[in-house]
Amino acid sequence: MSTATSLPHRCWAEIDLAALERNLRLIRASLPPHMRYVAVVKADAYGHGLPQTAARLMHAGADLFAVANLAEAAALRELSPEWPVLVLSALLPDEDRHAAEYQVALTVSSPEEVERFDRAAQRAGRPLAVHLKIDTGMGRLGVWHEQAVPLYQKIRDAAHLRLEGVFTHFSSSDDDPAFTALQRRRFLDALDRMPGLDPASIFVHADNSAGLETYEEAGPFNAVRVGLLQFGVLPSPGSLLAEVHAEPVFSFRTRVGLVKTLPAGTRISYGGTHTLSRDSRVAILTAGYGDGIPRSASNRASVLIRGQRCPVLGRVTMDQTIIDVTDLPAAAVGDEAVLVGRQQGAEIDLTEFSRWADTIPWETLCSVTKRVPRLYRTPLGF
Ligand SMILES: *Cc1c(COP(=O)(O)O)cnc(C)c1O
Repeated sequence: MSTATSLPHRCWAEIDLAALERNLRLIRASLPPHMRYVAVVKADAYGHGLPQTAARLMHAGADLFAVANLAEAAALRELSPEWPVLVLSALLPDEDRHAAEYQVALTVSSPEEVERFDRAAQRAGRPLAVHLKIDTGMGRLGVWHEQAVPLYQKIRDAAHLRLEGVFTHFSSSDDDPAFTALQRRRFLDALDRMPGLDPASIFVHADNSAGLETYEEAGPFNAVRVGLLQFGVLPSPGSLLAEVHAEPVFSFRTRVGLVKTLPAGTRISYGGTHTLSRDSRVAILTAGYGDGIPRSASNRASVLIRGQRCPVLGRVTMDQTIIDVTDLPAAAVGDEAVLVGRQQGAEIDLTEFSRWADTIPWETLCSVTKRVPRLYRTPLGF
């Protein structure tokens, strides 16, 4: 009997690890040499698979990893007991002692956190690294910029904490340069008011992928936090970052399970939101929203078969999606259908696919489900 892992794939994601490594090197090369590279690998490395992705980014020389929580930090600790890791989200109080155990850096936004983390470090018998986060206009984590100095002092005074970084996060770096500039100014003003701060001795970081568009060489910034761009996706269409030439790492593929003809006037799929205007050949794909094809892409997305675009007809269903192959007589059962990626010189990119689904590339990547195996191309033999 064959095992499930040797079965052919009905829907899969291909992850090109060599492209990921090239992307890191290209992004780094586009920045001044002293800039350190913080690889953001939260949410299973944006759906690409945390261990495989992080191992390759370590090979490529990422300076620090940023994750959302301790479970992700623990997965990194399995790969490397020492590599610097920063947890970006707020910790729950009963997580504090585990942070001390994993020796990861924590984000601090409040005096209460300073006290908690200092206690946890004392109990663990070794210092904990922290990054002070300053809220310059995102309204999420961080101490409000006008109140940053007393919190900085409190960290300095905590016997068991080591200030490893100071950072902020932009709310609108993909579409509002003026507000981003205001956030940068607020951040730099707060740094200027911190007595005894030597920016060169810690991580000073603000830019996410989109921030790199308005990135300023001058000033104390010495690290960038890169998520989406390292996966080869631009944070906005027409982004200046196209000049970096990062390539897509992720592609999303399925296959044709059935081809048949239907007469004009047939209502297609649940709810009858599409009615055939002509006698048609349709293909049934072996994937649906149970795999991460968003239901919101119903009647809007297209897929590539044999290098040709074929539109989705009617609603995407849990396990199957219906497409029009009337204009592609060669379409046959077993054919590969590309949801996101390249095929025979044609391409559907993640941004276009996400637009069909009324969402953003970040969410599309996080929505590919567990049913979908990630197939790693170009591994290094880890
Ligand atoms: C997710 C995240 C990033 C990475 O953002 P991208 O737009 O994907 O580059 C950077 N900083 C913080 C605080 C984040 O939460």
